[in-house]
Amino acid sequence: MPELEQALAEVAAEMAGRTDRGDVATYIPQLGKVDPKKFGIAAATNDGRVILAGDADQPFSIQSVSKVFTLTLALGKVGDALWQRVGREPSGNPFNSIVQLEHENGIPRNPFINAGAIVVSDILLAGHQPREAIGEILRFVQFLADDDTIIIDREVAASERATGYRNFALANYMKSFGNLHHEPELALGVYFHHCAIAMSCRQLAMAGRFLANGGRNPATGHSVVSTERARRIGALMLTCGHYDGSGDFAFHVGIPGKSGVGGGILGIVPGVASLAVWSPGLNENGNSKLGSIALEKLARMMNWSIFAP
Ligand code: GLN
Repeated sequence: MPELEQALAEVAAEMAGRTDRGDVATYIPQLGKVDPKKFGIAAATNDGRVILAGDADQPFSIQSVSKVFTLTLALGKVGDALWQRVGREPSGNPFNSIVQLEHENGIPRNPFINAGAIVVSDILLAGHQPREAIGEILRFVQFLADDDTIIIDREVAASERATGYRNFALANYMKSFGNLHHEPELALGVYFHHCAIAMSCRQLAMAGRFLANGGRNPATGHSVVSTERARRIGALMLTCGHYDGSGDFAFHVGIPGKSGVGGGILGIVPGVASLAVWSPGLNENGNSKLGSIALEKLARMMNWSIFAP
């Protein structure tokens, strides 16, 4: 098996040479301005190393990767009561699909599709003004990554709000079933802002460390969530983290992952490392095309899989 440094460098070099990158998301106009040639990858290992290759220090819009952190925060607040308002099944549908909501009484299939994450935002709003809830999410992410320089890109948030008709439809529809407790406008304000958090691969890999280490930050030993909760969040990432491409990602990569339309993926190798990869071009399911391929290659090189004996 190669050293991790060497494996990351090899994967980054190979991805830099590829031209089949997929297309950058443009339905959020601000995301369409990103250079599709960017590629970064980072690993934060449980034994304290941080290994980088490519554009691993350049911040990008983490988009739906943020849903891992908002779910973690919301579970900390309301515990398993969250599951009365959000399901835990893969949707088999695109991230912004509305179809299943009608048959399931406004209860989204899982917390990682847009509808589910909007309910999670609504939960985080309880007792707060939107700006307080947004601040709490940002501080939590900064705490997880041990990095106070992480910010929210207000232009991305505004760009998404200006064009977010589908998300408004999802929120209004769930409100009609009574599954939003605040005005859709307010829950969406929280949602758009956490999707607009900008992080580098280094920062994202650092923020995911607790999931690779049984719920504890491996650097400080402090518990972020219980071991059981870390495992369950990992299970949801594996089954639902790539929308209607979740089965394919599990099949090819073999570890839990969460993607975002900014082209980022957070991957978790339990007991070993937290990984982040960024390549803005997307595949047909809205997941980073080269990011997925890079993680598949890396996992194979390092013999990483949750099914490894
Ligand atoms: N903010 C994006 C949206 O709501 C997140 C989608 C994603 O990353 N898949 O459309």
